[in-house]
Amino acid sequence: MDLGLNGKNVVITGGSKGIGRAIALTFAAEGANVATCARNQRALQDVEKTIQNKGVRAFTQVCDVSDFSALEDFLEASKRYLGSVDILINNASALAISDDSTAWEASIDVDLLGTVKAAEKAIPWMAEAGGGSIVIISSTSGLEATLYRDFAYAAIKAALISYANKLAVNLAPQRIRVNSIAPGSIEFEDGLWTKVKEQNNNSYKSVLESIPWGRMGSPEEVANAVAFLSSDRASWITGACLVVDGGQHKGNM
Ligand code: NAP
Repeated sequence: MDLGLNGKNVVITGGSKGIGRAIALTFAAEGANVATCARNQRALQDVEKTIQNKGVRAFTQVCDVSDFSALEDFLEASKRYLGSVDILINNASALAISDDSTAWEASIDVDLLGTVKAAEKAIPWMAEAGGGSIVIISSTSGLEATLYRDFAYAAIKAALISYANKLAVNLAPQRIRVNSIAPGSIEFEDGLWTKVKEQNNNSYKSVLESIPWGRMGSPEEVANAVAFLSSDRASWITGACLVVDGGQHKGNM
């Protein structure tokens, strides 16, 4: 299936590693131009080159999405470079897996307000262009309650699903679709789960055992779902939360 992403302009927050990087490279492989940001320059430079090697345009800028003026600056520079923002992917997360006040503040500032501020900036551009697509990366943690003490992360990921649903309903007249994705446990080098595997192997094993397929997901498996949901092939899908978890959790309840 041709997703029709060739020549589209995509902005991704947090595209220098893990799931965000896989999303950036998947869009590039589909012929889309990509702008992305992260806090650390080196990994950004690497992803910029890898995107360009796929024959599309790439723009990267160091930016902490919880610094709203830096975020605005990154989005404006991306639009100037690309010419438009057809697709926005809100991926950056503080991954603050705890229940202390630092985790709440980081989850609110990075995951929630970083997403809200980016959407508020891009929506008028999409509306003026006649439409667009926004995908917000949530988590199955935002759908289900577990005994883990990730209170802030889970509550904010749930809020993001609600925010995506609200935007989907309100932005239909402007032909902007808004969806969320809820990945289960996704494993990759230097990622959250490789750290858990090294530092708390029992916890890693018990999560692995809870997954019917006997493995964790890959960033590419999430990226494929993001590419489809963002594309015109998903033209009648808006306000959906797509679970990408190999059956790890029972689903979108
Ligand atoms: P990751 O490996 O920590 O990568 C996060 C990316 O975002 C990096 O490029 C990071 O680069 C950037 N980033 C982090 N904080 C940022 C900030 N304040 N401003 C700008 N960029 C920032 O995370 P991941 O595991 O790929 O997760 C990606 C998304 O999937 C998140 O929304 C996460 O909640 C969700 N998710 C992940 C899993 C999983 O199992 N991994 C499961 C469910 C959902 P810098 O550090 O250089 O800024």
